[in-house]
Amino acid sequence: MYAPGDIISHTDICLFEGFTVQQGMNYHTGHDNTSVLLMSTANNSPYDDEIRDSGKVIIYEGHDTRKDLVDGSAKNYDQPLHLPSGRLTANGKFFESANSGIREIVRVYEKIKPGIWTYNGAFTLEKAWLEDVGMRKVVKLKLAIVPEQGSVGSVEHSARKELHQTRMIPSKVKFQVFSRDKGECVICGSTNNLHYDHDLPFSKGGTSLLAENIRLLCAILVFNNSVSMSLP
Ligand SMILES: [Zn+2]
Repeated sequence: MYAPGDIISHTDICLFEGFTVQQGMNYHTGHDNTSVLLMSTANNSPYDDEIRDSGKVIIYEGHDTRKDLVDGSAKNYDQPLHLPSGRLTANGKFFESANSGIREIVRVYEKIKPGIWTYNGAFTLEKAWLEDVGMRKVVKLKLAIVPEQGSVGSVEHSARKELHQTRMIPSKVKFQVFSRDKGECVICGSTNNLHYDHDLPFSKGGTSLLAENIRLLCAILVFNNSVSMSLP
């Protein structure tokens, strides 16, 4: 069980999802048949993923054509919805689902640095479109955060909702905090079960937007410090 803001290894993702997550776009292959997207907003990322609206919206870029199907750089070609056989690519599967009106759930993991990831939460796939970028067309997916990721109707409902919203930490802040705290719990130095923690909680006016208010804590300390939350 992971909560948005948890810092996990690639192995953790594979163990949790139940398959070897090698591709960024994984349609209906998660442990409960949910789709899984891996994203990165790092400067050297091959794709232009964006987090908007304080983490409530992700604009995810589709993936390039297979290199063996084209001459030269795949970046010179449209991102395909179909394979030469006519079957849908991963782009095509997400594209069709988004435009079918299903609004299916997608779990999103974001790369912080090689081997280090964070769980961004469960999102609904809202829509997909083709966008002209330079001389080619790329696939764009819009994902919106699932507002309540605890059990709806429980006494903890509003507390869980607020907790979730406190964890919308922009990628830039995540990178800064991870680097500043050297990938260790600021209290005990552990490098396991890390989490982005608010020094001053959101409910007391703390912000997610400044690295000064975010720190790395291990799960044991986070557990003592706030409410634990699991995936739906
Ligand atoms: Zn610790």
